[in-house]
Amino acid sequence: MEAKTGAHVAILPSPGMGHLIPLVVFAKHLAATHSFSITFINLTTDSSAAQSSVLSNLNDVGLSSVQFVDLPPADLSDLPSSAKIETRISLTMFRSLSSLRALLGDLTSKFPNTVLVADIFGTDAFDVADELSLPKYLFFPSNATFLSLVCQLPALDTKVSGEYRDLRELRLPGCSSPFPGKDLVSPLQDRKDAAYAWFLHQAKRYPRADGIFVNTFEALESQALQFLKENRASFPEVFPVGPLTLEQPENDSDCLRWLDEQPPGSVVFVSFGSGGTLSYEQYQNLAHGLEKSGQRFLWVIRTPELTEGPAAFFTVESKGDPKAYLPEGFLERTKGVGMVVPSWAPQTRVLAHAATGGFLTHCGWNSTLESIQNGIPLIAWPLYAEQKMNAILLVDEIKVAIRPKIQEDGIIKEEEIERVVRGLMEGEEGKALRAKMRDLRDAAAATALAEGGSSYGSLVNATQKWRSNV
Ligand code: UDP
Repeated sequence: MEAKTGAHVAILPSPGMGHLIPLVVFAKHLAATHSFSITFINLTTDSSAAQSSVLSNLNDVGLSSVQFVDLPPADLSDLPSSAKIETRISLTMFRSLSSLRALLGDLTSKFPNTVLVADIFGTDAFDVADELSLPKYLFFPSNATFLSLVCQLPALDTKVSGEYRDLRELRLPGCSSPFPGKDLVSPLQDRKDAAYAWFLHQAKRYPRADGIFVNTFEALESQALQFLKENRASFPEVFPVGPLTLEQPENDSDCLRWLDEQPPGSVVFVSFGSGGTLSYEQYQNLAHGLEKSGQRFLWVIRTPELTEGPAAFFTVESKGDPKAYLPEGFLERTKGVGMVVPSWAPQTRVLAHAATGGFLTHCGWNSTLESIQNGIPLIAWPLYAEQKMNAILLVDEIKVAIRPKIQEDGIIKEEEIERVVRGLMEGEEGKALRAKMRDLRDAAAATALAEGGSSYGSLVNATQKWRSNV
């Protein structure tokens, strides 16, 4: 086989749409704007239309510069059903190492100048990169504040003796608002669980990366980025390259057609990301709250769960028909005012639509960036992963979101939902949040992504080394 001399990037996303989407966008930038050739490695078992549509974004770059390779699915059948998502994802990556080794071996004979980019749960792949003497980078699909927690986790692990959830607060550099221990990222909530051991294992390996890309931008998180810069002695160089968000192709979905008929800025979009599900009781309250608010809404519904947790993480499809769980008569009563979409909506197009005026979100970081790019203010309703940390950042620090009050039993009442939806769409608070969001939107467009902008420059900086390896 003839060896190619141009720089080539092997991209390894861990399972989950929230990891896949920003890496698809990153790959697209590397190929289309920076002329690298890409191998995009897929080790998920999700064959949903949503995933195929996300991956198809890379097709328009041209097949000569992007190739897709599926690795055989890892067998997790020995895991108990109680195994947490971070354990499942880390083990999927770990158990794929031998097929990854074979693939990277083949790729490096074809492309001697190969760089590996793994993500937040993919640091075990660094061993394979070392065996093959490849540069290895990490792509962190969330924000710099969360990355600063990961950077400090190995030290916290030795310093803090009890459970983090019992800490009244933890201060993170670059963020003046304190984080209550119970709101830290999910795998830190139980130090005896395997998910904590896996998360710590990943965190301890981050310093081995030659550099870390983070999906944020200077104007959004300048202080957290500054902290990471100051830690260069113990932590790799951090490159803010955001906001990297997906441009979904034009399509004529029912929900976009419905939005076309609504007045500008009148609709609140309600969605809990690719894996978020609510309890049956919470699902009912949300339906009643939206109805009582009298506001127009577009709600992506998923079958409610009787057990807590991101059950839908490995596939975005709902189990059963989520409409069957709506309150009786809900669809008839809200006809014309609201629309429900089972499982999946073309979110970036919805947020870019002129009729959309607010977003009730689980605070996933991709959703957050997509909202920022469209200047849409938020209702913060975090569920799991680092979403509660993101909610604190959005409500207290960046001040672009309202957060509904949660009762002692963990439920948000319908009256509270009605209050926050009205407040966001009609109230003075909503106006202030919208103005702040629009400023951020402009900052993102003008300073981050445009040629000469901070994120653009950061990516050029990092990748210059890759070219000079040729
Ligand atoms: N998404 C979408 N349609 C949906 C739900 C989610 O297109 O109905 C996309 C959304 O635009 C975002 C990603 O899936 O890019 C979800 O990522 P995020 O980080 O917000 O949350 P996660 O799914 O990881 O919890």
